[in-house]
Amino acid sequence: MSNMEETLSIIKPDAVERNLEEKIKSIFIKNNFQITRQKKVKLEKKEAEIFYKVHETKPFYNELCNYLSSGPIVVMVLKKQNAILENRKLMGATDPLEAEVGTIRKEFGISIDKNSVHGSDSPENAKTEIDFFFKN
Ligand code: ADP
Ligand code: MG
Repeated sequence: MSNMEETLSIIKPDAVERNLEEKIKSIFIKNNFQITRQKKVKLEKKEAEIFYKVHETKPFYNELCNYLSSGPIVVMVLKKQNAILENRKLMGATDPLEAEVGTIRKEFGISIDKNSVHGSDSPENAKTEIDFFFKN
């Protein structure tokens, strides 16, 4: 049964800063994701606060928003069968130390906060996050 999906992916500031943009995109392509939309942006802190609103009660919320707005990011819409779950698998665990070998966070992540990539975690959040960046 077909379940073609779109998910939002972000190459975070730590990875853009280390010039990993093309390397990470090539991993998505190699894993049969289609990059249907993309742009490089730098968020204002207020925008990061809106994007990460689901985490507003977490102790790391303020740091997280400072970090996401600290430098350029690459925002992409990835399309594939079961893209949301497939991208989460390819990214690996939130903490790079716990991520499996072969995942993006294992290979490139620096720490639990500077973990190189974001990926939507549900169809509902994928839609909200794609609209946040690409609604015209
Ligand atoms: P994921 O990005 O894997 O979906 P979460 O949604 O739980 O993870 O958290 C969002 C982001 O917040 C993480 O990618 C990471 O950058 C940061 N973060 C999560 N947990 C922590 C933590 N304990 N300390 C610092 N930053 C964290
Ligand atoms: Mg999340």
